[in-house]
Amino acid sequence: MDYPYTIPYPQIGSLLGEHEISVLTQLVNSGESLSGGRWRAEFERRFREHLGVPYALSLTSGTVALEIAIHLLDLNAGDEVIATPQTYKASVQPLLNYPVRVRFCDVEADSLNIDPARMESLITGRTRAIVLVHYGGLPCEMDTIMAIARRHGITVIEDCAHALGAEYRGRKPGALADIGCFSFHSSKNITTLGEGGMITLFDRSLAERVDRIRSNDADAVYHEKVRSIGPSTSAHPWMMHPGYAYTHGCTRLRYAGTNATLAEPNAAVGVVQMAKLDRMVRRRHQIAGAYTDVLSRYPGVRIQQQSGPIRHAHHLYTFFVDPASGMQRDRLVSRLDALGVQMQLRYFPMHLLAEWAARGHGVEECPVAERMWFRQQVNLPCHPGATDAQVEQVVSRLDTVLRQEVRSRPIAAATSGDTEGAAQ
Ligand SMILES: *Cc1c(COP(=O)(O)O)cnc(C)c1O
Repeated sequence: MDYPYTIPYPQIGSLLGEHEISVLTQLVNSGESLSGGRWRAEFERRFREHLGVPYALSLTSGTVALEIAIHLLDLNAGDEVIATPQTYKASVQPLLNYPVRVRFCDVEADSLNIDPARMESLITGRTRAIVLVHYGGLPCEMDTIMAIARRHGITVIEDCAHALGAEYRGRKPGALADIGCFSFHSSKNITTLGEGGMITLFDRSLAERVDRIRSNDADAVYHEKVRSIGPSTSAHPWMMHPGYAYTHGCTRLRYAGTNATLAEPNAAVGVVQMAKLDRMVRRRHQIAGAYTDVLSRYPGVRIQQQSGPIRHAHHLYTFFVDPASGMQRDRLVSRLDALGVQMQLRYFPMHLLAEWAARGHGVEECPVAERMWFRQQVNLPCHPGATDAQVEQVVSRLDTVLRQEVRSRPIAAATSGDTEGAAQ
């Protein structure tokens, strides 16, 4: 089948090769169990070390990590959660399962990250949590956010699906708040062969709850029965376990438990991928640098940024078109598309999705996120599998299209009547 794009958006966001295949061959030939064994333990150990967190539990997807993270909040009816509107829907979707009020907090126009300056005014006595994403792999302004959260006793969940390989003031996303959620989906910075996820934690009792939930144990409160009512009065120590009804009673059930553990082949590939992470992020930086070089030569466009000592993971490469300059985002995107450079804008603002609208959310709730998505933001293909030739093609086509846009500026500015947005 002919693929219409010479430079398609990435299907695979990392590099898979000989090393992954050889570890899989070894594993299959070993005759060891393919479920829950040493590869999973090793993957989790490397992840903990990379992030500097005490607990990292692998899961079947980033979505499951977020579902469990939100479950751990023990939300009650009427509680409130502050969330970013500019993310993939899995960040906030689990909240639809709870009778809580979500307050979408608008994003910063420079970074597309949740804007701490708008946060305080959304906090009420019922606010329990903040759910944020490091958009495209650019870390949020975490010092400010955590200071606000700590002051109000609010739990912070980091969606780090884009941010593996990023750094914030010498520390890593996933270790900057209370709970971190990672995805190893095919498109992400590393992949565990298509699907996979991780949850990172500092709190031991929460980690124990996650471990139970992912392995078919109930997340419940048990109490030891004073007297055994079982058939034997001398139970073996291994029988003295909440799993045995005659030794324990259950006073509170929070979650029935599920099977969400990462399989050995996936974990083994994860171990290999972690070793390549730094190299892959450096390649993303190289590509991003080439795009930035072209873009910085033109007026009317600006590049996603955040101040401070940070390392962008460049899961996405994002820039913004200023409509006041006369350039038009949609025209620019369709011109690039016509030249074979595929665009995928990420992401449609959450508060405008039908299921959120059904809960009373809607237009103008987050004007910056709306303006960016509908009129300004552009994402370029940026992944380590892109060849030099592909990157050069994107660069030269971007250059061509930007030159056309700049040339058509006076006419466009005169006819569009678009006066919104200040020049950079
Ligand atoms: C990919 C992604 C997820 C979901 O991860 P899966 O592993 O695909 O379930 C969640 N949040 C963000 C921001 C993502 O990009």
